[in-house]
Amino acid sequence: MLGSVVVFSMKNVHAMSCKEVSRLLSVKRDRPLTDEEELQLKNHLAICLYCRNFDGQLGVLAEMAKRFAVARDL
Ligand SMILES: [Zn+2]
Repeated sequence: MLGSVVVFSMKNVHAMSCKEVSRLLSVKRDRPLTDEEELQLKNHLAICLYCRNFDGQLGVLAEMAKRFAVARDL
């Protein structure tokens, strides 16, 4: 049952692995990325649908967390 994971192990994308990118996407919410990190992230997202989806999901989660925080303040 490895199917979907194996599809995205793109050896030709030497810059960054999906694992590294998902880590950067999380880091990005805590601190600004360096130019180097930002560039590699962009390059990877341009070609990797999986990580673009992941980025979108993080956005949704952040939005939900924000709403939750607001709701608690009331
Ligand atoms: Zn990726």
